[in-house]
Amino acid sequence: MINLKQFEVWFVTGSQHLYGEATLRKVDEHSKIIAEAFDASSSIPVKVVFKPVVKTPEEILTICNEANYSNNCIGIITWMHTFSPSKMWIKGLTALQKPLLHLHTQFNRDIPFDEIDMDFMNLNQSAHGDREHGFILTKMKINRKIVVGHWQDARVQAQIGIWSRVALGRNEMKNLKLARFGDNMRQVAVTEGNKVTAEEKFGLAVNTFAVGDLVKVINQISDAEIATLIKEYEATYEMMASLKSDGAMRSSLVEAARIELGIKAFLEDGGFGAYTNTFEDLHGMRQLPGIGSQRMMAAGYGYGGEGDWKTSAMVRVMKVMATGLEGGNSFMEDYTYHFDPANPMVLGSHMLEICPTIASGKVNCEVHPLGIGGKEDPVRLVFNAGAGPALNVSLIDLGSKFRLLVNEVEAVEVTEKFPKLPTARALWKPQPSMEVGLQAWLMAGGAHHTVYSQNLTTEYLEDFAEMFDMELVVIDKDTKIRDLRKELRF
Ligand code: MN
Repeated sequence: MINLKQFEVWFVTGSQHLYGEATLRKVDEHSKIIAEAFDASSSIPVKVVFKPVVKTPEEILTICNEANYSNNCIGIITWMHTFSPSKMWIKGLTALQKPLLHLHTQFNRDIPFDEIDMDFMNLNQSAHGDREHGFILTKMKINRKIVVGHWQDARVQAQIGIWSRVALGRNEMKNLKLARFGDNMRQVAVTEGNKVTAEEKFGLAVNTFAVGDLVKVINQISDAEIATLIKEYEATYEMMASLKSDGAMRSSLVEAARIELGIKAFLEDGGFGAYTNTFEDLHGMRQLPGIGSQRMMAAGYGYGGEGDWKTSAMVRVMKVMATGLEGGNSFMEDYTYHFDPANPMVLGSHMLEICPTIASGKVNCEVHPLGIGGKEDPVRLVFNAGAGPALNVSLIDLGSKFRLLVNEVEAVEVTEKFPKLPTARALWKPQPSMEVGLQAWLMAGGAHHTVYSQNLTTEYLEDFAEMFDMELVVIDKDTKIRDLRKELRF
């Protein structure tokens, strides 16, 4: 969906003129080797670009300004191979508007005990050079990720990879245009929020478009395009008998395909990466988009039901972060509970719009009546979500601030048949337990809508919150209600 190698992280090494030309040449040489290794690393999906060592306040300011102006540069990695006095960094860091990763490494892994002399000591000073750098970053209250360890260590490269993916997500959020078809679902609170503050803080532009204008595009879709898309449906999903070419509900499938193609055309034409709609405002549409919204999500678009633009934006951003990873990310809703003390679980679903990237096993294409909205029966994809560790992520607007909430969950294999449930479904156990996980979620004000992720970990959301200087509340196996109450009060 996105060519990750078009994006760059710049590798910037700090030093000073004190050491002389020979040492500085070595610093450059070593930095280049490290940058090239990162660039070639399979854990780091973006391009890593070596930048010549910076030695003066002017050079540091210049590289920071260049990073700001470069559309491809999504962040910088800084490393102090030698000692780089940090007052030299103040002007540059003041100007810097891109995420920063402070890498605390050194070129050699081991101390060469038999050979070590003062030349070696002069060159390999990051153990104290990076402390000077850490001080100024803390003094200036600059949010950053700190990664510690030898640069060839797989764990170090994995952490840099995660940060790079999150920087991609930040870049996406900064440039994201989201189309709202219809307003918020009437009277619902958590899906509301301040769109002006959101644009100021995140860059996210949320704007409304008339459903009638979307319907106009939907009605212009040609029969040939619809026929091609239906062939794709038939090749990809198990079709319910009534949706087959001679089936009684075939016309519903034709209408669903028309809606999907219309939404796609509208979003592509306007450069939108995400959208919302609401079943309360579908004027001129014959069905609530089901399969269309599901497939748009699978293609990488953000989606939120009932006007939920915050969750829609997060679906898009998390899909961008996860580009190329196994597993999926979907719009999700905690729907109903299984309070069996021996096997407590949450059933996650939505009335239609769950992304098939989280499916395990076959995906069925079905048509069923929908109890609300007063429209024709919508076509939808029905499947079970896969087992394994997952996250539920919620972005809420508390008026004075945005809060990002993460609950780590363990999805269980869906073995039940659900013969009468016409929606996609997931079953999971919240951490640290059903009781504490749900209590903590309610205390923190988490929404009923979430982004459900199978392939991102809490570390991604930690880095994301850091980049946007946003509060993060994590509910995991260590969560205790008493501690959380104190945390939320601060
Ligand atoms: Mn909902």
